[in-house]
Amino acid sequence: MKTILILILLVSITSTPTLTFAQTAIDGFSPERAAAERRWEEQFRAVPNPKSAREHLRRLTIEPHIAGTKEDYATAVYVRDQLRSYGLNADLKEYQVWLNYPKTPSVLELITSRRQPLSTREAVVPSDPTSSNPKITPLFNGYSASGDVTAPIIYANYGLPPDYDELKKAGVDVKGKIVIVRYGNSFRGVKAKVAEDHGAIGCIIYSDPEDDGYMQGDVFPKGPWRPVASGQRGSVQFLFDYPGDPLTPGKPAIAGTPRLKPEDATDLTKIPVQPIAYDVAKTILSQLKGPVRPRGFQGGLPFAYHVGGTNDVKLRLKTDMDYKLRTIWDVVTRIDGNEEKDRWVVLGNHRDAWVFGAVDPNSGTSAMLELGHGFGELLKQGWKPRRTIILCSWDAEEYGLIGSTEWAEEMADELKEKAVAYLNLDAAVSGTQFGASSVPSLWKLIRSATRDVKDPKTGKSIYQQWQDHARENRPEDEQNTGEARIAPLGSGSDYTPFLQHLGVASTDMSFNGDYGVYHSAYDSFYWMDHFGDPGFKYHVAAAQVWGTLAMRLADTDGLPFDYTDYAAQIREFFNEAMKLARIRNLADSLDEKSMNAALDDFAKEAERVEKHRQEAIRDSDRAKLTKINNALIQAERQFIDERGLRGRAWYKHQIYAPGFYTGYAAQPLTDFRQAIDDRNSANAKEGLERIVEAIKRVTKTLKSV
Ligand SMILES: [Zn+2]
Repeated sequence: MKTILILILLVSITSTPTLTFAQTAIDGFSPERAAAERRWEEQFRAVPNPKSAREHLRRLTIEPHIAGTKEDYATAVYVRDQLRSYGLNADLKEYQVWLNYPKTPSVLELITSRRQPLSTREAVVPSDPTSSNPKITPLFNGYSASGDVTAPIIYANYGLPPDYDELKKAGVDVKGKIVIVRYGNSFRGVKAKVAEDHGAIGCIIYSDPEDDGYMQGDVFPKGPWRPVASGQRGSVQFLFDYPGDPLTPGKPAIAGTPRLKPEDATDLTKIPVQPIAYDVAKTILSQLKGPVRPRGFQGGLPFAYHVGGTNDVKLRLKTDMDYKLRTIWDVVTRIDGNEEKDRWVVLGNHRDAWVFGAVDPNSGTSAMLELGHGFGELLKQGWKPRRTIILCSWDAEEYGLIGSTEWAEEMADELKEKAVAYLNLDAAVSGTQFGASSVPSLWKLIRSATRDVKDPKTGKSIYQQWQDHARENRPEDEQNTGEARIAPLGSGSDYTPFLQHLGVASTDMSFNGDYGVYHSAYDSFYWMDHFGDPGFKYHVAAAQVWGTLAMRLADTDGLPFDYTDYAAQIREFFNEAMKLARIRNLADSLDEKSMNAALDDFAKEAERVEKHRQEAIRDSDRAKLTKINNALIQAERQFIDERGLRGRAWYKHQIYAPGFYTGYAAQPLTDFRQAIDDRNSANAKEGLERIVEAIKRVTKTLKSV
């Protein structure tokens, strides 16, 4: 799972102090130590190589490896044994979690004057050898309910609340009907939830060619985009409620943990949900009668869409799911720090895939193995990281971030005390354009690491290429001398439990390109070899950037966390939210003054701590640095409010969470912002108060330095 939105924006330089370094300087290191660090980093970056990255990917993508299957187990063993062969002490970690597979292929029939059976399988593409593998599952959604429903069908566009408002205006009621919605604009679990809330008894989700098919370019196997007989699998868990095992919210799915009854799990839908390819969608949509589509409903199929709802065009949908507690396997590898063993830099990438998962997620797994390869070599040459590095290969991410969430829930107390940062990779390579999301305190670190890794195609630094690409694609920013923009973290990958449940500073990175085969059988080794990364040099670059980031966090004297960027970013979010609050006449009830005062105080303290950090690094004042580092680590934790977000207590971070309806995308200042959207002034007031409290806690932690 992973958002496929590519963010290529620029922002102007914020008003933070500009630091100048000598050529070998690295933020956080004294000049002598920086030189040594640079040598180690260069030695590390020389290890990952395209040939072995390619071989890892080939091995990982031979069979479909859905979470909990024996093929998935085989990939866990492969990852463990490869890491062991590099000299690292990798081990498997098991959890028992609630998962579904389709017992039989779903039945789909269009009923007009006759009954027409429709396919729920993807076609074999002769040039892609793995596409004929008999173990490829038919199209299905993770956590769909089982059911057998027959009803008139209604086209509900993206399946989000404004779409149902439009249908209502057109006089169409979805109660007791089956809705067909297109992928895009939000996470599919949101579409299932909104359909269920409106009384639909079944939900079909299709890939419209406008989104990732022929409207974007040549389709597979001629090009990288989705062919007509391809659909998008994926989970319809209510991820915005809580991720992880549905039966053990907030607790690890291990022996001894009491489990909910499945019918009591609030993050599961009660209706059958089914993905289909766009050739099948064409058959259905072309038959629909009723009003012609409202504005914004038309997609890329070659006829005017109608919304349907008439009794003479019905659909039968039968899903038959095999639900069970199943074993999943994370692979956890620890490289102990030699001075600060109880400070953890955690790296993670998931390994399970809906089918072969060449891009999503095994490009990241291949990068992790090459990173492990590099760290193994350094250890042999005498490198000792100051802090502990933990590499995690997560299982069952696709169903709902399960392997990472269960591990984070099991290790919660230790992580709260020890975790320095969590660095995620998911669909790491689908092209050549670098992109990143992270908490603002790590923006400078990401930029500095990408300045030291070469872009394989252009020979420029990754940073330079990233910034140039953003400029070219945003001509309105041409005169802007800004830094490459780093997006906020929403959800849809494994950083969620670390950042949004525990308050561990997190990052996510990828190299992006034209990628139309997401969650299909064609996200294969063949696709990667022909379109995504022929030559596998970007797999190497991913390992280099990720490893450089990890080494800096693990080895540095003074952690390169910059909270002045955090304060500026929150202020930007707040100003934006207040604009909307004013338009909606909600501003009067809000204590804008307290928020601005809290932000001023936060920014001032952040600047002061940064000055102290630079001085302590210069003076190699270890006692002072320890104190500063502890405060910088714990400051992020203070954004956690143990009461949790409104109506979904698992999410505890006051700045970053996925919105209820935005799905993958972040809705910063979440509860406050949602209340403004809902025009609820009491909730907005309370939401803002909690944010102010959180900012004050962060400031207090910084003041301890
Ligand atoms: Zn993924």
